[in-house]
Amino acid sequence: MIKTERILRLRSSRGRRVRVVREHYVRDRVPCYSSLCQADCDNGAKVLPGDLTHYVVPDAGVVVDYHEILEFRELHGIVFTQTACQALKSKGRRFYNRIRELVKDPRHSCVLFANEFQEYSYCPREKGESQEKWQTRCVYSAAVWYYNHLAGMMNIVMITEDQEAVAEYSSLHSGVYVISVQDYLKNFWPEVEEVHELYASISRSLREKEGEGSKKKKEFSEHLPTEILEAGIKSGRYLQGTLKVNKHRPQKEAFVTSEGSNNINNNINNNNNNTDLGRVLIRDKNRNRAIHGDVVVVELLPKSEWRGKGTSLTEGHGDEKEGQDGHSKPMPTGRVVGIMQKNWRDYVVTFPIRDGTQSQTRNSQRILVVPWDRRIPKIRISTQQADALQEHRVVVRIDSWETTSLYPNGHSVRVLGRAGELETEVQTLLIENCIHVPPFSEAQLREMPVSSPDKPWRVDPSEVAKRRDLRGTHLVFSIDPKGCEDVDDTMSVRSLDGGKVLELGVHIADVTHFVKEGSLTDLEARSRATTYYLTDRRYDMLPPVLSADVCSLLQGVDRYAMSVLWKLDAETLDVKDVWYGRTVIKSSYQLHYELAQQLLNGEEADVPELKELGAQEKEAKLKELRQALKTLTHVARHLRAKRGRGGALELEGVEVRAQLDETRNIAALVPSQPLEVHETVAECMIFANQQVAVKIQESFPHQALLRRHTAPRRDLFFDLVVSATSRGFSISTRSNKDLAESLDRAVDPEDPLVNRILRIMATHTMSQALYFSTGSQPLDQFYHYGLALDRYTHFTSPIRRYADIVVHRLLMAAISMDGGVAPLRPPATNKDVQELAQHINGRNLAAKVVQRQSTNLFQCLYFRDRDPETDPRCVTEAVIYSIRDNGVLVFVPEYGMKEPVFLAHRDGRVVAVGADGRCHWLKGSVRHHLDHITTTSSSGTSCFRIFDHITVRISFSSSTSSCHADYLKLEVISNRPPHSSGPRPPPSRLRSQLVKEVQQAEEAQAQEKEEASRLPELSKEEREFRQSKMPNLYSLLEEVKELALKEAP
Ligand SMILES: [Zn+2]
Repeated sequence: MIKTERILRLRSSRGRRVRVVREHYVRDRVPCYSSLCQADCDNGAKVLPGDLTHYVVPDAGVVVDYHEILEFRELHGIVFTQTACQALKSKGRRFYNRIRELVKDPRHSCVLFANEFQEYSYCPREKGESQEKWQTRCVYSAAVWYYNHLAGMMNIVMITEDQEAVAEYSSLHSGVYVISVQDYLKNFWPEVEEVHELYASISRSLREKEGEGSKKKKEFSEHLPTEILEAGIKSGRYLQGTLKVNKHRPQKEAFVTSEGSNNINNNINNNNNNTDLGRVLIRDKNRNRAIHGDVVVVELLPKSEWRGKGTSLTEGHGDEKEGQDGHSKPMPTGRVVGIMQKNWRDYVVTFPIRDGTQSQTRNSQRILVVPWDRRIPKIRISTQQADALQEHRVVVRIDSWETTSLYPNGHSVRVLGRAGELETEVQTLLIENCIHVPPFSEAQLREMPVSSPDKPWRVDPSEVAKRRDLRGTHLVFSIDPKGCEDVDDTMSVRSLDGGKVLELGVHIADVTHFVKEGSLTDLEARSRATTYYLTDRRYDMLPPVLSADVCSLLQGVDRYAMSVLWKLDAETLDVKDVWYGRTVIKSSYQLHYELAQQLLNGEEADVPELKELGAQEKEAKLKELRQALKTLTHVARHLRAKRGRGGALELEGVEVRAQLDETRNIAALVPSQPLEVHETVAECMIFANQQVAVKIQESFPHQALLRRHTAPRRDLFFDLVVSATSRGFSISTRSNKDLAESLDRAVDPEDPLVNRILRIMATHTMSQALYFSTGSQPLDQFYHYGLALDRYTHFTSPIRRYADIVVHRLLMAAISMDGGVAPLRPPATNKDVQELAQHINGRNLAAKVVQRQSTNLFQCLYFRDRDPETDPRCVTEAVIYSIRDNGVLVFVPEYGMKEPVFLAHRDGRVVAVGADGRCHWLKGSVRHHLDHITTTSSSGTSCFRIFDHITVRISFSSSTSSCHADYLKLEVISNRPPHSSGPRPPPSRLRSQLVKEVQQAEEAQAQEKEEASRLPELSKEEREFRQSKMPNLYSLLEEVKELALKEAP
């Protein structure tokens, strides 16, 4: 190792010149990360392949300005130099971190070369040399080093935007080429069109930035330097928190919930004081260029400038999940003084219809595009396609936001398609929720086992020898919704010791046998974290060969499993012993719920697996299966009862679980009579999850992945209690047991919807269950409120949840530790597990949001082409469940929607009810009471109460210039329910029918267009991922599970 001194000349914040001497160490051995290495570098696992035509070395300027281009997976063999990455760091840490992630990710063919530590590539900066020139020289020197180090076996291309550098270096060394980015892309990647578009877009925005005058008027104040912000937070002068823009008043209102404010809130609530110090209101321009999701630093304004937030309904949206206190008192109000972390992402925007007023220069036009997400400000971009892209949706990124500009600057990344078309809209939802589901790559698929109809995958005898073989001893079966392809879980039950012992078994697909930690498939599954279910399609977490075939515990084939086997006392059902481990199973029956219930009830049942058998044999088999199901039910009842005694009861009734979500229109698909067998299967899975949770928590007290569910916030119960009181019911929210029991009692025999609505409202108060690392929470925070269990995790669905994969690995590590063998790899640290838990929590939330948004999309498309005045399907019954300042929130049973209905207009007109119940708009006033709302006009006073059944007309409303999501508008036409409900489709077919009709309409439209102009073909991605055109019952049931108060097992 050689020490040199490196002299830095810096300028202090006060403008003084400071000379800093740093010791700099160089080594003669710095890894090259190339598979062609002849010098025995210590290269580790990720290396650049040797079969490429060249390696590319971008200089600092290219990495700083065009790093997005280098992120394309299509580009291979990229060498990032330390010099270039340091330069990027000065642009922003998050960019630097992105490159670091890229380098770590084996899916990208790129490496980081520590050129400044390598003796022969390091060049000290010369006197008078500019930083940029020095950086370019360093990178060139690194490029030459690579060429020599690899003995001339690989061509090296250095790319730079510095024309002088091209002239100076390009002919110095044969085998090392120096060219511009544009030339590089044109010559080497002509076919990757998106790269070229992105290059054009970025370079245009860079040119614009250069040309921008700096003498403009300041619209915003400068952000304070980080040191001052940090000191201010420490001293308590400033608050730090995440900025959340109110989507109903995006220009006016945003809130910052200060970090660690929970304690403050709790204290305040205990003192019965309603001032919410943890939440700060940011109004208008005080947001100071912060964007929704940024971590900001806020200074409180003097109390005289505090304001309240608005509470009236705004068009286009349902209600928000917030404590509703009717009137808004002034709340802490502040201004943003700095941004700690910018959380900018890709945004979908719409190009406005051109009106000729936008500025236009010779080559390009600067236009303001409107983000789909209302919480994001308009973004200014330069483009040459402003006309061609009118009313199209385009992905853009924000580059900067200057103090002199009312809007941030950005550049376009790619075009999604015309607004309003199904594919464009679905892609929009995915991008807006940061859901990235590219087709599984070839390299990933090469990791997969081979299985085809002609040559199905088979178990390996040497692997079987290592496992407990249950094929000859255990009657294993699965019970799932009809049509389920990916069978995660199976069960078994048998009698031992002459009937004294019952052995219960839960056998889960052994996904981790096929998905090795750190493999490409593992990384992809980890970044997806879950399977995404949209209304008309799904995006799997694992490649289909695993999820629908090799891992799926199908009937009649040998499969690897992870099993939990309990020995229970046959009398008391107490657990005597638990065994965990890897097994081989062969499922005998793949039952669906209805069939299993029929068998249990002793009804005539048609079991497909027994079709071929003779009468006698069939009867014997049926008897055996029936007995197993009976025993299982017996055990499950016991487990459930024990759970009920052990703590509070579960909140949800069966009815809620079955008929839950209002906006998702799924209620109708679930059997109205829930079957006990649902409960039985769920209970067995809960039992296994709980058992595994205990096991991994005991083995890894600081780094096990568990799942917790906190009690709901009491203030959210306000609406529920008010609504119930208006019908004379009292709801106790003291504990989940009290809540469940009081909800059970709140039944109006005249109106079954009352109980249903109360339960829906109770559901809305519930918090999300969350994954966490056991080292990050005190023990008393592990509690699962919904299940009333003190430890819980997810183990039973590894095919579609990444958490379960992590838990399987933890369980295997725990088992090998029990056997005295140290696990193959040390388990991840608490910090790693907690980070992973947060990632999975975030993805689960995105999965939920995208599912809801895609349902909204389909509902809108369903009503889009109907005439609300003539189409009877647009007129339907609605029930009022909440009162707002200028209207009410209603639930529409037929379509399972929850929407606002306005009773007052801004122009001073209100809804007046005539003698026949018909509603008209007249001049008047509106008044909000606790459980009702009144309107007064020349025709008298009318009243709308909670639980009133009214008639509404549903019409489609396009958002302004189709920039945002469309929405449905509900208008009250009578304060009574519709007279005749008329012949309507049975609810059980409604949703699939809705989806079908929308798709047919979409296809018909597409055909029309095709005749006019050729329709762009579906991308490869779209083709591959249209895995299921119609939603199957399986995915819908999963949806219900997720929605239920009760945790999906
Ligand atoms: Zn080497």
